[in-house]
Amino acid sequence: MAVYHADALVIRSREFGESDRVLTLFSRELGKLQAVAKGVRKPKSRQRAGVQLFTYGDFLIHRGKTLDTVSQCSPRESFSYLWSDLDRSFAATGIAELLDISTIAAQPNPELFALTLTCLFLLEQFDPFLVLGAYALRLMILLGYRPRLGKCAECGVSISGDRLFFSSDAGGTLCGQCREAYAGRWIRAGSIAFMGQLIKADITKIDRLRWNAWMQQEIMETLRLFLEYKFERPLKAWRMGSLTRDDVGRQTKGKEGKEFE
Ligand SMILES: [Zn+2]
Repeated sequence: MAVYHADALVIRSREFGESDRVLTLFSRELGKLQAVAKGVRKPKSRQRAGVQLFTYGDFLIHRGKTLDTVSQCSPRESFSYLWSDLDRSFAATGIAELLDISTIAAQPNPELFALTLTCLFLLEQFDPFLVLGAYALRLMILLGYRPRLGKCAECGVSISGDRLFFSSDAGGTLCGQCREAYAGRWIRAGSIAFMGQLIKADITKIDRLRWNAWMQQEIMETLRLFLEYKFERPLKAWRMGSLTRDDVGRQTKGKEGKEFE
């Protein structure tokens, strides 16, 4: 198969050589793959739009000896609203980053593809952090890492109390006896219950769920630690997202100019 089609999302785009980009694509049928888009950093390149981060489209790709090459891209959706707001950009970047570090090449996962696409569409209207939180939890479930919430991850007993002990190592909450053997952190019971709702609710209706600032902070931090533990990689965008807006604005300018322009 010298040429193939990929119905795919651009989840990473980095500069390569003088005028090329190497794209990491997540495709419905083929899973994650890499391909070079040649000449796309030249001002007159027709394919510039198709290689932007988060672009969803049909890619025609030539198989190469070492690297495949994008020979054509027909964008279906560019998600331009993701760039119009800082929180949306962060959530979308967080989604792309998490998808990239949690998957390996050539392992198709159509459900994960559909979830990713849905969440990028939901970012137009919904609270971006709510979408990112729901995405992370559902990605973990699709990859076989469903967190135990409200029951002991070790022995299975139901746990009650104002605060519950969550351990990334154990993969969920732990009872008083089992937690002796694990490192972890205390989380309010309300946050644990809310994480359960983010998993159970119809994803297209999660905007009906209400959380407050401390729950958001606690949940996003717990998820970040859990994900970093499972995939053994730092989630850079997630760490940036937890900074204050001012800090974020200052730090992203340089980064965006370099990586996304
Ligand atoms: Zn236990």
